[in-house]
Amino acid sequence: MTARESLSAHVREMRTLEGILGVLGWDQQVLMPPGGAAVRGAQMALASQILHERTTDPRLGEWIAALDGTDDGALRGGLRNLKRRHERAVRIPSELVGETAMAQAQGFEDWVKAKEAADFSLFAPSLQRLVDLATQTAKAIDPDRAVYDVLLDDYDPGTTTASLKSMFARLRDGTVELLDAIGGEVGEPLGGKWDVERQKLFHDKVARGIGYSMEQGRLDEAEHPFTVGIGHGDVRITTHYYEDDLLTGLSGTVHECGHGMYEQGIPSDLLGTGAAEAASMGLHESQSRFWENTIGRSEAFCGWIAGMLGELYPEQAPSARALYLGSNHVKPGLIRVYADEVTYNLHIIVRFELERALFAGELSVADLPAAWNDRYRELLGIEPGNDAEGVLQDVHWSGAAFGYFPSYTLGNLYAASLGKAMQRDLPNMWDEVGKGEFGSVLGWLRTNVHERAHIEDAPQLVARVCGEHDPVEDLLDYLWSRYGGLAGVSRG
Ligand SMILES: [Zn+2]
Repeated sequence: MTARESLSAHVREMRTLEGILGVLGWDQQVLMPPGGAAVRGAQMALASQILHERTTDPRLGEWIAALDGTDDGALRGGLRNLKRRHERAVRIPSELVGETAMAQAQGFEDWVKAKEAADFSLFAPSLQRLVDLATQTAKAIDPDRAVYDVLLDDYDPGTTTASLKSMFARLRDGTVELLDAIGGEVGEPLGGKWDVERQKLFHDKVARGIGYSMEQGRLDEAEHPFTVGIGHGDVRITTHYYEDDLLTGLSGTVHECGHGMYEQGIPSDLLGTGAAEAASMGLHESQSRFWENTIGRSEAFCGWIAGMLGELYPEQAPSARALYLGSNHVKPGLIRVYADEVTYNLHIIVRFELERALFAGELSVADLPAAWNDRYRELLGIEPGNDAEGVLQDVHWSGAAFGYFPSYTLGNLYAASLGKAMQRDLPNMWDEVGKGEFGSVLGWLRTNVHERAHIEDAPQLVARVCGEHDPVEDLLDYLWSRYGGLAGVSRG
């Protein structure tokens, strides 16, 4: 076999193992009885271990080296991804991997207890240990780079702390200005009780309508909505229905459809190259947020679903206007996962600022709760009453997912720039969305994003599609136009 054939077979096997882990994880969250937990843990640990062996296999490094300089552009991109992944896995000592896994298990347990008791001090020692281990891991990977830069590579390769710092600072100031201008609140909650059986029909119609393929996927229920790409031809999404909140459940489904359609659109001819994957977490999130927010909270989309809801709930059919006001209700709150589109980024920026300071040695773990509360008061004008609704609200740090949070706001920034480019290319798109026709919107994303998979890193992909652009201005323009419009104010 040639190096290319050997590499391709090896990489396909790695993808198969990831798919096996995907099925196990999907089943764990959707169908598995509680008694299956221990066995499932053993199954996932074994599959992960085999995947780790495949990833660190010295032959993988040799094939990558042998194919260096190939004139196949997609393969070149794939080799860059594989090299990055292989080298990271090889450089981290296996004792450090084991210690981190144990610290994560302990961290999760302590975080649950601390959150229940609303007492950060119960989680602080675990968090300190996780920060120390993440620092050691980053130094093992690359002793010459700043720790937080190395951590970011896991989620958004090609993005740096310096670029995030300057973009997020401008976005923060611009968002605070917008919030001031709209008087802190616009829109109005929809309210009402919505029969869940009919919601299921509704979500199914919306998912199919916007282009999520049920031939290559499924929509199921889970406690927390997620998407899992099991393999080419099988990309599943989950959602959660709320009897007293029609729009939160819907936005969850539309969000996961965005993730799912991205994965469904990755071309099969890239399999085995190392490029048949999403370009980054941030770009993944741009796809989900574009559908959830730009499309799913638009007047055109609200007009389309108003027709559907009129048929499903004839006795309580909401108007398109009521749906629009409900979808765009903005009001600062303490909890990130319930945040509206305007304040959401402030929640992320607080977390980014604190994480960055923590890994730069400018902030200690013990000082986190006070620093958190100060930032919420300054940026959102509200302060948590206790640690559970403050610094302890998210699970991420208990699993050592440091550097993950920025991908949410990167997603919003990418979505704004891509959305602007799309509207330039598709002048009739809003008329089509209003009629429930999504083919040209999805087609544009397929051509410009999905089919490019991970041939380029996300920053290069977005720069190529959007040309000269300023993502912060693109996002602020978009937010001002929608929310300034609702409040009757425009950007000064
Ligand atoms: Zn998402």
